Amino acid sequence: MQFELVDVGERASWGARPPRRPWRPFSKPPRLVVFHHTVSGIGRVLGPEEEAFLQREMQRHHMNLGWGDIGQHFTVFKSGRILEGRPLGAVGVHAAGANSYTIGIEHQGNFEVEEPTEAQLEASARLIASLYRHFSWPDDGGERLRPHREFSRTACPGRYGMVSLDHVRSIVSRLVSVSGGTDKSMRYPFQLEKNGAWRGHVFVGDGRSIWLHLYTLDRPGRVHLALYRWGTKPFEPANAAWRSWLDVSWGLSVEVSRLVPRGEYLMDVFAPQESATIYGDVEEIVR
Ligand SMILES: [Zn+2]
Repeated sequence: MQFELVDVGERASWGARPPRRPWRPFSKPPRLVVFHHTVSGIGRVLGPEEEAFLQREMQRHHMNLGWGDIGQHFTVFKSGRILEGRPLGAVGVHAAGANSYTIGIEHQGNFEVEEPTEAQLEASARLIASLYRHFSWPDDGGERLRPHREFSRTACPGRYGMVSLDHVRSIVSRLVSVSGGTDKSMRYPFQLEKNGAWRGHVFVGDGRSIWLHLYTLDRPGRVHLALYRWGTKPFEPANAAWRSWLDVSWGLSVEVSRLVPRGEYLMDVFAPQESATIYGDVEEIVR
């Protein structure tokens, strides 16, 4: 994942299992960020291997609860390293009643009994500032950052988490006000189910192109791509050139680049004759 302000380890880096069912895309851009603590993983800075293990354990635990995938969008560890959870374009499971319009960030630790590390808070702030850029949220002093307890009956993120929020907000605000603009690129992973279609929600800033990458098809096949403007019914094609068939071979990445105006789009992908599962991501790039 390519944020300008901070590195985020992608799902493959921690050995994520595929989701049990397709992710549900946000129907509108999310507008708030929810701050959580994991409660588990108390006490010390972990190494990268241990962090990947903890992330896999969280995914396993959440999927055992019947959820389709790990619940949160990101996990920020005491080391300051960040791992991707559920893709940014997918609705998470982390704050009952507020999932449809929020991004969930977990923080390693039990902040009822211990303080977050400075590296952790700095990394979290850089991540949140990246979300401000990505969704083109104006600088508001970091007010979009909210504690989990604001939405659900929970003590999360603990009393030390609560007293850290204003510190994080101040870093976010400084980064957003200095940088202005939006983040350079962002990925929208999606999964295409067997013999079917997947619809992804894509938010595009000014003067950007979209790259679509497809890979891990089991055998050569045909894939139909279409990009539609959001908010019109029936959906209008955003660009006739975006409706095309592609030949995709196993293990290869197909890249399609188109410059599209600012707005919200739906990306439809069809692979009617495929029995394989296709993974891919959409990346927008500033020109
Ligand atoms: Zn929480």
